[in-house]
Amino acid sequence: MPKKKIIVKTKQTKTKTAKIKQAKTKATKTKKAKRLTPAKRLTPREKKIQEIKKKLIAWREAVLEEAEAALNELPGQTVFPDLGDQATAETERSFMLRLRGRERRLLKKIENAIERIEERIFGICDKCGKEIDVRRLEARPVTTMCIECKMQQEEEERLTEM
Ligand SMILES: [Zn+2]
Repeated sequence: MPKKKIIVKTKQTKTKTAKIKQAKTKATKTKKAKRLTPAKRLTPREKKIQEIKKKLIAWREAVLEEAEAALNELPGQTVFPDLGDQATAETERSFMLRLRGRERRLLKKIENAIERIEERIFGICDKCGKEIDVRRLEARPVTTMCIECKMQQEEEERLTEM
């Protein structure tokens, strides 16, 4: 009789330990899931901004390629070295210097926009600090001003020119 009791006790303890283990594993899983959710779930605006970032990177590539092709077409110019990973800072610098002003300004704007996305300050108006409408950002991703401030600035420029 006493032997049987002992066996029962051991069984119970085992089940208890297993249950505690199970509960612990469950808790860890829930914790992990909770921690992952905020990073994974982007707001619609953040999603759009990530799409814009991809477009900006592709745009920068296109401008660089076009600029490179235009430079290589110039008579009497040496063929421009490949702008691959091996391009030194020096070749990149001379490349930028040889770009036409318009392309250089555009590249700078594109790069600034990509940087602002990475710093999580993209889409905030430089002037008033409000969020720029996402439709405006999609149409003009390099903009740093909301439509109201931009219009105001243009109006001011027009007045000073007159
Ligand atoms: Zn503004």
